[in-house]
Amino acid sequence: MVTLADLQVRQLGECRHESPLAKYIAARRTNDHYVDESDRVLFDDTVHLVQDHGVPLTELPTLEPGGPRRQVFFPPGRTKVGIVTCGGLCPGLNDVIRGLVMELNTHYGVTDVVGFRNGYAGLVPAHGYEPIALTTERVASINMQGGTILGTSRGAQDSEVMVDRLVELGIDILFVIGGDGSIRGASKIAAVARGRGLDLSVIGIPKTIDNDIPFIGQSFGFQTAFTVAAQSIAAAQVEAQSAVNGVGLVQLMGRHAGFIACYAALANHHADFVLIPEVPFALDGESGFLAALQRRVAERGSAVVVVAEGAGQDLMADRAGTDASGNRKLGDIGRYLEAAIVGHYRALGRELTLKYLKPSYSIRSVPAKAFDSVYCVRLAQAAAHAGMAGRTDMVVGRRHNRFVHVPIDIVVSHRNEVAPDGDLWLSVLESTAQPPEMR
Ligand code: ATP
Ligand code: MG
Repeated sequence: MVTLADLQVRQLGECRHESPLAKYIAARRTNDHYVDESDRVLFDDTVHLVQDHGVPLTELPTLEPGGPRRQVFFPPGRTKVGIVTCGGLCPGLNDVIRGLVMELNTHYGVTDVVGFRNGYAGLVPAHGYEPIALTTERVASINMQGGTILGTSRGAQDSEVMVDRLVELGIDILFVIGGDGSIRGASKIAAVARGRGLDLSVIGIPKTIDNDIPFIGQSFGFQTAFTVAAQSIAAAQVEAQSAVNGVGLVQLMGRHAGFIACYAALANHHADFVLIPEVPFALDGESGFLAALQRRVAERGSAVVVVAEGAGQDLMADRAGTDASGNRKLGDIGRYLEAAIVGHYRALGRELTLKYLKPSYSIRSVPAKAFDSVYCVRLAQAAAHAGMAGRTDMVVGRRHNRFVHVPIDIVVSHRNEVAPDGDLWLSVLESTAQPPEMR
């Protein structure tokens, strides 16, 4: 169970500088979302969850609210900032970069912002990637482009060498836009800086197209991703319905968590089956997936199957190997299912038309849609405020409609997954009417 101690954000020191944003704060008429250093955001949002803690109000798990403080730690106008993007692509990376540069420049007078090239490799001089200056002119319209203007990479880098480089460049705040691995890396950089007694703030803006990072609310880019994914499901349905015994098979992202598959399937109700990593299934037997699919095709003339890339890994022979960052490589469940379905119909001697769609790269590379663009800029603003206020070793997130600061330790403690007994999966079962168990 999460305790109040788990939710304490590290602070470099006392905030002695009047914030340039104090004028905006003073102008606000309501106390509603006022960020007072003594205010906290409740972690739980139901009476039962609160009661489960059984502790006095002052010890209830609460989070530090995001937003501008009256006093800041770093002197406005004399602070130097670095930004790095790492891990896989996700819609909204450029929106976050732009949001950071704009907020820091416009309101904190921070004109010295550099972008490190190609992930953490850009902080290691041996790779030879020189940082680039990020001016407001340079970032003005980058939000129209997918990907990241800074580039990204995988692969381990030495935290001591990266801190040496940050010191050499005089960086006060490093913003890391990346996934679970990058955020672990950010925490190591913060720890090395702390060990050396440096006033270096390291703030993460969590990036996960799979929405599998816990405690941060929905991740940026996720909504864009499932919107585009839903278009592939619609295409698969058209293909399936236009063929004799048509099956449309769509493989979506979701290494460990099936959120994209669930949301995309719910968006248009075209899916007859959704297969996710959290809910194991069997292929064969009367109650297995292939028999259920065959029944659905017989009833309706066609069917659409949505599968997350991490689903059904237990069905395939062990796939050894890892990527450059040490992440386990997955077996290709889409191809595996395609072969299994084709084989099943062939064995029955029945006609089948199967169309396999794997749109991952055309999903993760699109520019963010409006909702995510708004979310990205607001996350970036919250991150800028947190960094200027001397927070470190934390990420920004959103809980109960409030931007919050979440310590990295707790964010990387586990993964956010679709609960097989939760209301999202129930909605998917209701929408697809697939058997609740295919075992
Ligand atoms: P995605 O989830 O999209 O893959 P990610 O940030 O998890 O994003 P990784 O390739 O795992 O992507 O990691 C990105 C960077 O973070 C790499 O440079 C990697 O070396 C570093 N990193 C990953 N895991 C750790 C770790 N446990 N400690 C320190 N650094 C790490
Ligand atoms: Mg990762």
